[in-house]
Amino acid sequence: HFDADVVPQAPEDPLFGLMAAYRNDTFDKKVDLGIGAYRDNNAKPWVLPVVKKAEEVLRNDPDFNHEYLPIAGLANFTSASQKLVLGADSPAIKEKRVTTVQTISGTGAVHLGALFLSKFYPGRSVYFSDPTWVNHHQIFTNVHIKIATYPYFSAKTKGLDFEGMLDTIGKAAEGSIVLLHSCAHNPTGVDPTQEQWKEISKVMKEKKLFPFFDSAYQGFASGDLNKDAWAIRYFIEQGFELCIAQSYSKNLGLYGERAGCFHFVTGASSDAESTISRIASQLAILQRSEISNPPAYGARVASAVLNDEALFAQWEEDLRTMSGRIIEMRDVLRSKLDEMGTPGTWNHITDQIGMFSYTGLTEKQVLKIREAAHVYMTKNGRISMAGLNTNNIDYFAKAVDKVVR
Ligand code: PLP
Repeated sequence: HFDADVVPQAPEDPLFGLMAAYRNDTFDKKVDLGIGAYRDNNAKPWVLPVVKKAEEVLRNDPDFNHEYLPIAGLANFTSASQKLVLGADSPAIKEKRVTTVQTISGTGAVHLGALFLSKFYPGRSVYFSDPTWVNHHQIFTNVHIKIATYPYFSAKTKGLDFEGMLDTIGKAAEGSIVLLHSCAHNPTGVDPTQEQWKEISKVMKEKKLFPFFDSAYQGFASGDLNKDAWAIRYFIEQGFELCIAQSYSKNLGLYGERAGCFHFVTGASSDAESTISRIASQLAILQRSEISNPPAYGARVASAVLNDEALFAQWEEDLRTMSGRIIEMRDVLRSKLDEMGTPGTWNHITDQIGMFSYTGLTEKQVLKIREAAHVYMTKNGRISMAGLNTNNIDYFAKAVDKVVR
């Protein structure tokens, strides 16, 4: 019989605990820098104008219904998603070397990829950056893939520990999986430069390693969809077989709609098409047993945007609005700290990119700033730049200044 005693109490998710503490705080100047979602300058969730337009298109479509999608998802959405991440003129698409499954957003894509690899690429370890998005650890552990890490963040420079990264990757067993954030690394905000990506690719090719790209912020980081996909496209040019987990949570603000894709790209060869067809057939079986078929609404909204020239152009503008506001907050925060002569160096605030910044604040300082100033951030000193705005940035900068003195 079922022995309930074998089920231990799991620890609370630290991020959700932080959110609850923020909600229960009654102080009027409290600041939420824990959130992993975009906020506008009034600290409010932002429905992208392009999404409102796309929703109107859907509402006015007389054929709109609530039927099931196919197992692999909405075809117009998955094919447009391939073009978005790989580039419209990607040889991989032309040569039919890509297969795509619509997933429960980026999380579901990482999971489907991990599940697929655990089944058809057994006995390999996966290498994560240290640190990485914490869910990577849980997702790969759940499918029994062994986890290793490579150095990533240098506490000294608050930038990339490039030597440490290359050294560890260079020593990985042949065939190991290496998880890479394609842009806007979460949680550090630190990305390799294009030159560094080239060297990473070289080492990975020599060691025959398998790249697993997590693309959760395309267009949201720099404001330019192509620039943010550069690393993935470069690796494909180099002939890698690889996979990609793609999310539309941040870049289209479709968080709760769970829109995303898992792409598997195989290298150029005479039997690439047959390889891809076999992989697609297995992914379909995994998908069927896990979710049967993916949720329709978010994919329909995304598809409307991706497949219409005018809406796509509007989306690019919305992306520039979001990334521009975040980049501006980085500039303002850094100059305020510089102006106050806050002890330490703060160039990393503007060097880092995307939603998050690793401030370098210690756990002790994080707890102190929470208690004294009602500013909420994760214990590792990560702040969500989206939580800053013109109303609270001065207050926040002063609180940081006070806590590091
Ligand atoms: N991967 C990374 C690195 C992320 O930061 C996130 C979201 O925070 C995700 C994947 C998945 O997000 P979602 O499941 O909402 O697409």
